[in-house]
Amino acid sequence: MIFGLKVKLPIECHNCGFEVATITRPAGKYYADFKCAACGGPRGSLTERTGWLIQSIANSFGAPTTPIVLRRPPVPCTRTENPPALPAQRKD
Ligand SMILES: [Zn+2]
Repeated sequence: MIFGLKVKLPIECHNCGFEVATITRPAGKYYADFKCAACGGPRGSLTERTGWLIQSIANSFGAPTTPIVLRRPPVPCTRTENPPALPAQRKD
């Protein structure tokens, strides 16, 4: 069970700048979703491949007490996160 585990993502939260996200049950078509551990905002999704990778780490070493470091960015959340090529919109 990977839900509730924390991961450190290579990109920061667009909302609050925090790097750590919690794995949550998927709202869409992906294996699981990421939710910002600080502000609770959506941080994208995991593919099944990444989900199994995290599961195998948890199985081998026990549920980690520190966030698992992911070096690949998650599947972007198109609702709130822009692709890196597009600058984030300012909220004035
Ligand atoms: Zn955040």
